[in-house]
Amino acid sequence: MARQVVCKICRKKGDSDNFYKVTGDNGLNKYYCSKEEYENLMNERSKFKSLMEYVALEVLEYEDGQIVPPTMVKKINKLNEFYDYDVISECFKQNKESIQYWVKVKNFSSEYGMTSYIMKIIEGSINDIYKTWKYKKQQQIKIENNSVDFDILNQLDNHNAENKEDNGILDFLDEEDI
Ligand SMILES: [Zn+2]
Repeated sequence: MARQVVCKICRKKGDSDNFYKVTGDNGLNKYYCSKEEYENLMNERSKFKSLMEYVALEVLEYEDGQIVPPTMVKKINKLNEFYDYDVISECFKQNKESIQYWVKVKNFSSEYGMTSYIMKIIEGSINDIYKTWKYKKQQQIKIENNSVDFDILNQLDNHNAENKEDNGILDFLDEEDI
């Protein structure tokens, strides 16, 4: 029987028959507006997780299990309000050597100082990386749109072929002949 449920992400109300249901390990059901909305959230979470792992293990060279400083997580999430995790991730990858160099040279006495410095480096180059990312994404969309155009073209070709059959003998005659 349908009952009213609330989307875990956007808090929109709907009924249990139409909403996308996910049953947790504890047997409890969670509802989402759509499968896409749910999968998008899962995708974002996994991107965030890999980013945190990359920052901790590869950039800060922490031990496995050691956490990224909370002030840094906060600043990264602030950036994510606009920039995709892919962009932030790429930014850390491109600045890895530079960050490691400065962390060594500056020999920060506090984690806060180190975090602020690293994030200044990230913020200093993120727009360039965003620009490239956006361009690549637009190209990808163009390619995808072209494939749609090809379908339409194919349909038009088929349509023309059918018309030709209908014309029968007329196809063999030039305008002057008619
Ligand atoms: Zn929703």
